[in-house]
Amino acid sequence: MFFNPEIETLPLDKLRKLQSQRLHWLVNYMYQKIPFYKQLFDEKGIEPKSINDIQDIAQLPFTRKEDLRNHYPFGLFAVPREELARIHASSGTTGKPTVVGYTKKDLQIFGEVNARSLAAAGARPGMMLHNAYGYGLFTGGLGMHIGAETLGMSVIPVSGGMTDRQLMILQDFQPDVICCTPSYAQRLAEEIGNRGIDLESLRLKYGVLGAEPWTEAIRVDVQNRLKIKASNIYGLSEIIGPGVSQEAVEERGTGSHVWEDHFFPEVVDPDTGDPLPEGKEGVLVFTTLTKEAFPVLRYWTNDICSLNYDSNSQRTHIKMSAIKGRADDMLIIRGVNLFHTQVEELIQEIPELAAHYQLIVSREKTMDTLEVKVELEPNVQESSDLKLQLGNHLMKKMKDNIGVSARVEILGHASIPRSEGGKLKRIVDKREM
Ligand code: ADP
Repeated sequence: MFFNPEIETLPLDKLRKLQSQRLHWLVNYMYQKIPFYKQLFDEKGIEPKSINDIQDIAQLPFTRKEDLRNHYPFGLFAVPREELARIHASSGTTGKPTVVGYTKKDLQIFGEVNARSLAAAGARPGMMLHNAYGYGLFTGGLGMHIGAETLGMSVIPVSGGMTDRQLMILQDFQPDVICCTPSYAQRLAEEIGNRGIDLESLRLKYGVLGAEPWTEAIRVDVQNRLKIKASNIYGLSEIIGPGVSQEAVEERGTGSHVWEDHFFPEVVDPDTGDPLPEGKEGVLVFTTLTKEAFPVLRYWTNDICSLNYDSNSQRTHIKMSAIKGRADDMLIIRGVNLFHTQVEELIQEIPELAAHYQLIVSREKTMDTLEVKVELEPNVQESSDLKLQLGNHLMKKMKDNIGVSARVEILGHASIPRSEGGKLKRIVDKREM
């Protein structure tokens, strides 16, 4: 089901026209309203009136997290505080949070893109949403909330954590859809199993999971254990929050549609900033085409993925591949670059191993070393021989597929920390300790 069929299926030439008009509006608006952008454009000799085509975007400068931090908290807002309707902040995973603002119209857009996302994920008006994203400064909870209300669902604003209460609500209120981080969905699924709760007694059909990188390994785990269809939602507070892109439930595994009438995506070379063609992996960059309070131009997300149009899809908007990781989460182990999601994919290929793992990076003398800890599937009979054999198997796979030498330790069930409700840290960096 489409929430906004006309826009979601808009032919590409019309989409380009709309984006071009909106980019023209945006650069002129930024020039007038935000001294930082005025100065930047003047320095670079950019004449906002001459930006008339979405293709012109490649001439425009990037905005980086550092620019946001330098103008903390409200320095890049384009409206006076009286016109603000809401403030949020990034969760601060990589340092001091960045603060973002919304006008009433921005909140309408926030509702619209999340209504589209929920509908693409399988949700329908009249269904009930168990919203286990955190409520608060983090955009996840309130972003999904406004989307569900816009779609015409009822919302249970559970927020993250307090797993006992989550399980009670899942059983007693019978929600149809759940949204949370994939790692918290794993945790809930596991607790349901541990407590012998009959899945048939639940009504859950769909999961809308995001806010952290995840691969098919976790999708399989969560779908099997919860008997739901789980799709990916992506977003970041600097752009709006959740609902920047969404995977269609019937096209799971083929990428997430970026709602590009509002958020124009590019993938660029991490070193040169040059735009990369479709299918090439690089850093994802977004321009907000319609936002009023906190518009950003070519925001450098640091997230690594590729973009692709999918002519088999009814929705015309471009698809982004699952995020491999953030550029600053990339590990470099003796010259080999890797993301934890690459290890997660290999774990999935070994049926005895569970999608519960941790990567530990340490420094021995001047060398960085990697240790991978993975759990056995709970139904696998533990033995030290088996653990050794599986450990060697994964170690070899990592050497063959990623090119990295790592120590691998296979652990029994429930040895690795689970999500307490939000984003789970799967990398332990002992070099910083
Ligand atoms: P912070 O940057 O402090 O974590 P946010 O809460 O705004 O702040 O998080 C946005 C980031 O979360 C994205 O830039 C991305 O790295 C990650 N993220 C969000 N959704 C997904 C997703 N579906 N897949 C992978 N990563 C995601």
